[in-house]
Amino acid sequence: MTLYGGIEGGGTKFVCAIGNEHGDLLETTRFSTTTPEETLAQALAFFQPHAGALASVGIGSFGPVDLNPHSPTFGYVTTTPKPGWAWADVAGPIRAGLGVPVGFELDVNIAAMGEHRWGAARGLDTFIYLTIGTGIGGGVMAEGKLLHGAMHPEMGHILLAHDRAADPFAGACPFHGDCFEGLAAGPALEKRWGQKGASLPEGHPAWALEAHYVALGLVSFICTLAPQRIIIGGGVMQQPQLFPMVREKVTQLLNGYLQISYLKDMDTYIVPPALGGEAGVKGALALAFSVAPDRP
Ligand code: ADP
Ligand code: ZN
Repeated sequence: MTLYGGIEGGGTKFVCAIGNEHGDLLETTRFSTTTPEETLAQALAFFQPHAGALASVGIGSFGPVDLNPHSPTFGYVTTTPKPGWAWADVAGPIRAGLGVPVGFELDVNIAAMGEHRWGAARGLDTFIYLTIGTGIGGGVMAEGKLLHGAMHPEMGHILLAHDRAADPFAGACPFHGDCFEGLAAGPALEKRWGQKGASLPEGHPAWALEAHYVALGLVSFICTLAPQRIIIGGGVMQQPQLFPMVREKVTQLLNGYLQISYLKDMDTYIVPPALGGEAGVKGALALAFSVAPDRP
């Protein structure tokens, strides 16, 4: 049997899996992200017993990453503040250690690939996968291709209209203060309200404000990228009350301007990931398929 490897390399934890051509996960492991040397050695140790059957490996990494195959630092994590990981080669050691083709992508992009192949974006060619967790990041598939551009989109760092009279919080982004991520990611919630998002009650005013910022971000993305659907994952979106509030505010903000079929039913336009927590690692498998000698 031909096997494929998937790695979801997060800033907090790594998830590695071996799967078949249907995307079934046959074996999975997860471990904490420590130093690049130790973490990549742990990933190699997981795959090595199966190396003979592995056709390829797909890696989705936390960013920023170098996705330009012509660059000398292709496959690296680049300017991350995470200690030890700035300019760390992630794809190289995996390729050298296993001797198979390796695909390399940004973490949100593989989640988008997973949702495209097996999840909430099946049959679409232009959509966004957004995550709202420790940070805010977005992957864009545009007419069937992941959008890389000059590097990759950094959708969490767009600037939003911030009414400081209504919300005096200065924001938590070390680069921009009150960008989207600085106002609405998990650490911003915690800093503004003095407790973690998970412990804020459902009726707390935090959620209406959160939905407001998420909706502002989405309206900008809708108007610039014309997505056929927006999938939103990440820890903060584990608050189920957010989805209806975000849908309602997006509808209000668009104010009837866009009369397109996709936008008629907000319940199917703004959705959680169908693959849940497996979107990333399954997407890494889909990426592995795309670099395998016999593409399944
Ligand atoms: P990461 O972004 O590191 O991959 P997550 O997507 O799980 O991880 O996001 C973690 C962030 O989400 C933290 O800031 C955490 O406080 C917040 N978070 C986790 N669970 C919840 C929850 N149920 N409600 C609100 N916020 C949450
Ligand atoms: Zn920012």
